[in-house]
Amino acid sequence: MRIIIYPGSFNPITFGHMNIVERALGLFDKVVVAFGTATDKNPDVFLDERMELCRQALNQYGTRIEVEKFSGLLVDFVRAKNTKFILRGLRTLMDYEYEFQMLEMNRHLDPELEYVLLPTASKWSFVSSTRVREIAALGGDVSEFVHPVVAQFLAKHYRSPHTSN
Ligand code: ADP
Repeated sequence: MRIIIYPGSFNPITFGHMNIVERALGLFDKVVVAFGTATDKNPDVFLDERMELCRQALNQYGTRIEVEKFSGLLVDFVRAKNTKFILRGLRTLMDYEYEFQMLEMNRHLDPELEYVLLPTASKWSFVSSTRVREIAALGGDVSEFVHPVVAQFLAKHYRSPHTSN
């Protein structure tokens, strides 16, 4: 079975992420969406909520998707999953530079690693989780960029008193 790990913060998952997952399913048998907890600093949407949104948004792909978290190094998580493949999406040259630095570092930690970098579908190239959160926090409609369960969650989340500051 060919497994690929898709690490990220998915804060929240967008159609851009989903497009990368869907295309990776054409190349691999299973995609593990992996939330790293070590660098997860004080996000305004909690990890468990983000993971649940991810599960619901990706439910349509059935058992070929797993959503998990890991607390240590990505390279150790990848090894524990009995694979060597890491998936990332690319939108801009800036993404590329960032990814390249990360992948060089990770390949120093484990030279066996293989990165699969998929360029985004151009219609999602401007979509980022940060922008989506900003729009939702200001009361805007994000249904063009995220799955309906995510849009509903964000609308409610930013209306509720615990986030109004
Ligand atoms: P991280 O905090 O690790 O960068 P993100 O959730 O922001 O986590 O991104 C996870 C991966 O998804 C990254 O490789 C990122 O480039 C990619 N990605 C984010 N948004 C898009 C998009 N709109 N289209 C394609 N790939 C994307």
